[in-house]
Parts: sequence; structure tokens; C-alpha cells
Amino acid sequence: MKIGVPKEIKVHEYRVGMTPASVREVCAQGHTVYIETTAGIGIGCSDAEYRQAGAEILPDADAVFATADMIVKVKEPLAIERAKLRAGQLLFTYLHLAPDMAQTEDLLASEAVCIAYETVTGPNNSLPLLAPMSEVAGRMSIQAGAACLEKSQGGVGLLLGGVAGVAPAKVSIIGGGVVGSNAAQMAVGLGAETTILDNNIDTLRKLNAQFGASVKTVYSNQQNLEDAVVGADLVIGGVLIPGAAAPKLVSEAMIQAMRPGSAVVDVAIDQGGCFATSKVTTHDAPTYIVDDVVHYCVGNMPGALARTSAFALNNATLPYILRLANLGYKRALQADLHLKNGLNVIHGKVTNESVAKSLDLSF
Ligand code: NAD
Repeated sequence: MKIGVPKEIKVHEYRVGMTPASVREVCAQGHTVYIETTAGIGIGCSDAEYRQAGAEILPDADAVFATADMIVKVKEPLAIERAKLRAGQLLFTYLHLAPDMAQTEDLLASEAVCIAYETVTGPNNSLPLLAPMSEVAGRMSIQAGAACLEKSQGGVGLLLGGVAGVAPAKVSIIGGGVVGSNAAQMAVGLGAETTILDNNIDTLRKLNAQFGASVKTVYSNQQNLEDAVVGADLVIGGVLIPGAAAPKLVSEAMIQAMRPGSAVVDVAIDQGGCFATSKVTTHDAPTYIVDDVVHYCVGNMPGALARTSAFALNNATLPYILRLANLGYKRALQADLHLKNGLNVIHGKVTNESVAKSLDLSF
């Protein structure tokens, strides 16, 4: 199969659909990969590295879209990219169609076969192509939170791990899923006194087994939440109720009761946020202060760590890219119901029930 990787053109998007190592794997199985020139520059991968891995470099996105049977990207295609898709062409990327009628209409009109990373499922209701970004965001949340506690950011001037003779900071993490467990790993690694709250007992049991005495696991009810938030120097918000807006678990009164110079990082901000005082921020101006508490609420945290994120994403997407290329999309989707759940649009029809419902389209 001919696989095409255009350069991402969304503002501040530096990731790329395939790394040179993935190109090498795909080429070794007899496929051809066409990379738009400088597509990997944002993650520090040159055209020469891609060429060495076996790719052919094409001068622009027009050439990539015109040549390839399957387009592999990161972000949803912008209008200018959608116009380049053709009937029967396979598109494999994040789409997030539910709130985006303009994109959905264009994809329907293109008659391309569009598989969305975010709706590919895995065992136990997992979302294997979203998980790597939650891993990155969870780990990054502690780095971001540590910076928020510095004086220059409005923080109280606290080192997460403390030093000999000075107690470490207290970190409370709300939500013990992918974001929360990865945040905990970093917080523990830095020596912070770490508490995780979740309302799923099985999740708390797993975390308890994973971290042992280095993390306190606490059932998430109103009393425990209040205690854990008010007593913390840094609170990480990583809750998710699938398909719904994040619950506002931390009220303004709880923020007011936190010590001046403490900090919150609302990773769940992409679902509306779990702090009543959260509003979405960008990497250009990531923080603001409410009631003397530093707030970090960046909606696309992994974007700041484009290289790690692109490699992590590609590790997860590569097996699917290979399956689609080796079997063709019809057999690949028939053989794997989880991959089939990723199919959002085919030959002018929406095939994902929740996307169709949210856009009021026939399914
Ligand atoms: P996940 O499903 O793995 O974990 C969510 C956890 O929240 C679950 O363990 C669930 O039991 C718990 N939870 C639900 N209600 C709760 C409550 N009332 N109290 C305590 N815990 C509760 O999800 P995830 O992959 O960890 O993602 C978490 C959030 O982070 C999502 O909204 C996701 O979209 C977001 N996210 C944001 C960014 C970003 O850049 N801002 C990046 C990646 C993920």
C-alpha cells in the first residue's frame, strides 16, 4: 500500500503521523511511505532520517494526498486538507467529529474512509490510541505543577520533594486512571507526599497494589475531596466520565480554602475541567491566579512535548497502520471489531453512533 504522511498544519501542532522508525517497519513489510518534506522537523526528525528509513520525500501536501492510498496524520484535517481527499482514500488520524459539523460534512462529501484514533477501542472499555496522550499529560502535569509552585509563577516557593530536613510538598490527584496513575508515578519519583482519589474501588485497589505505601489511596466522596484539596500544595484534576463533561468536583469555596501560593493543574480541562475556577489556557499563557491559587489549564498539554508525544502516539498506532496496510481496510476492519469502532465515516455515511447522535445525522 502507498501510505502518505503530510506535515501537520494546525497552529502549534508539531507532531507528525509517522516517525522514521515506524516508516522503517512499514517499508520492511513491502509498503511505500511518502512523507511531505520537513513533516518531521517539529519532533527533530529530518528528511534525511526519513529517507534512510526508506521513505520517499514529496515536495508538498498536494503530492502526498494525490499519491497515497492511506493518509496517516495526527490532528483532524483542516478544510484545505479535506479538499484533497478522494473517494475510497483511507484517512487514519484523530478526528473528534462530534462537535464539528463542517469537518463531518466535508468528510462525507469526500467519500473517503475515515478512521478516528479516538474511537478505536481496546479490551475493558479502554481507548488505546487516546491512552498515550493521557500518559504524557499525566506525567507532564507534575512538571507543570512543580513550576506553578515556584515564586516567579505566583507559587509559594516550594520544592515538591523538599530536601533533607524540610518536608516534601503534598500532592493530591483526583482521578486514578491513565492521567492520575502517571501523575502519581512522577510525584512519587520526585519525593512528594502523594494522595490519589477515585470513586472506583477496583481502581484504588490496583493503585494500592502498584504503589504500595508510597501513595495514599482515598475514596472520592465530598468529605475526602475537601480534605485532600484543602490540605494539598498541588492538586491534579484527572477525572473522566466517558462521553460526558467533567464533573466540577472542586468548588470555588474549596479553592478559597487552599493555602495562598498553592497550585492546581486541571488536565480534564479538555472535557470542561473539574475545578469550578478552571478556564482553558494555552501554552503561550498557561497559568492564571484565582484566590491566590495558581491555575494551569492547558487544553492540549502533549503538544508542548511534541517529540515524546509523537513517538508515544506512533507506538500505539503502528500495529493498526500495519494491519490496515497489510490486509486493506475491509479485511482489517472485519478482523478486528475494536478497530472497526474507529470507523467514523465511509462512502458518504457516518458510522459512529455517538458522532451521528451529537450531529443529528442518520446512522
Ligand atoms: P481515565 O478514564 O483513564 O481515568 C479517569 C478516572 O476518573 C477513572 O479512574 C474514574 O474512575 C475517575 N473518576 C470519575 N469520576 C470521579 C470522581 N467523582 N472522583 C474521582 N475520580 C473519578 O481517563 P484519563 O485518560 O486518565 O483522562 C482523564 C482526563 O484527562 C480526560 O478528560 C482526558 O480527556 C483528559 N486529558 C487531557 C489532556 C490535556 O492535554 N489537557 C491530555 C490527555 C487527557
